[in-house]
Amino acid sequence: MLINYDTLRCNQSCKGKRARDAAGTMEDEFSFIRSITPKKHNHQITMGIGDDAARYRPQSGKDQLICTDTMVEGVHFLRETMSPYAVGWKALASNLSDIAAMGGVPDFYLVSAAFSEEWFADGKEVYRGMADLANHYHLDLIGGDTVSSPEAFVLSVTVIGHAPDKRTFLRREAKPGDILMVTGTLGDSAAGLSILQKKLSVDKKNMDYLVRRHQLPKPRLDAAELIRRLPCRAALNDISDGLASESSEIAEASHVSLVIDRDQLPVSQALLEIDQEQRLNFILYGGEDYQLLMAVPREAAEHYRDVFAENHLLLSPIGEVVDAEGEPGVFLKEADQIRRLTKSGYNHFRK
Ligand code: ADP
Ligand code: MG
Repeated sequence: MLINYDTLRCNQSCKGKRARDAAGTMEDEFSFIRSITPKKHNHQITMGIGDDAARYRPQSGKDQLICTDTMVEGVHFLRETMSPYAVGWKALASNLSDIAAMGGVPDFYLVSAAFSEEWFADGKEVYRGMADLANHYHLDLIGGDTVSSPEAFVLSVTVIGHAPDKRTFLRREAKPGDILMVTGTLGDSAAGLSILQKKLSVDKKNMDYLVRRHQLPKPRLDAAELIRRLPCRAALNDISDGLASESSEIAEASHVSLVIDRDQLPVSQALLEIDQEQRLNFILYGGEDYQLLMAVPREAAEHYRDVFAENHLLLSPIGEVVDAEGEPGVFLKEADQIRRLTKSGYNHFRK
């Protein structure tokens, strides 16, 4: 997503730290790797951290899923908006969200860290953030790389998972007539970022909730598990870059158009506190909500909702899939008007 950091200045007081231990000696790369090496594993791994490559034997006959995501200081986060713990958590969470969006189960992760000096001092906190999330889903850290970076801290996480029962859920599966549905609520993370950037103020309780949603997002592996259980076709994508952009990925991959109904967009109680237009902007273009967006056959939509409700999870219909009539697109319906949405998610190389 696009984060405009122009208004934020790096806090100079965080400069100059070194990764010193209690005795005051400089910690090196090797003792750092030792310190983050897990003592035990959840999966059968025949070689974890400590050799040239990790080795594991996948369950035979299961499709393996693998994805990677990178967070760059100054592009995806700043020290002022994200603690080292939160950076670790979020870097892993965004990968787990990709696994969820394939309907998969995560098993292992690898981490490539390019630390500036000041972030190396907090390296263990970054790993603690990842480990807390990883333990929750029984993931094992099986390798990575540690290098130094002259300025920006760059954290790249790779997750390996599997499809438990041969089914994966691709973006290209949507068909005209399908109902478009979304898990949870949208726009919270972008509102949290705006609060951290001091561009938005809300009451204390809402502030804590929204900031938390920005810093420590929960990947929707719980929803993925339910979707897997249902025998229907579903096109699936996770919302890392805002609803407009993620919808358009489904539209393009499936050669269809999507019509989103503004009135049906699910928002949290906290987001109701802010102005309607700003709210819509956060939902469509904010991103980092990590909810799942899916298109399912119309006749199955009610059943999906019921199954989610039985499991105390929110799933909302937000629109429908229609014929592309030439060019796939995403449209927003509001009152009696329909307008085409531009993608406007964050594009790293668009000038
Ligand atoms: P090599 O020089 O063979 O690449 P390294 O010294 O980079 O070996 O790594 C040694 C071991 O530590 C490997 O198993 C590697 O996967 C693991 N490792 C290195 N850095 C990290 C890291 N940042 N996070 C997790 N594992 C790491
Ligand atoms: Mg290496």
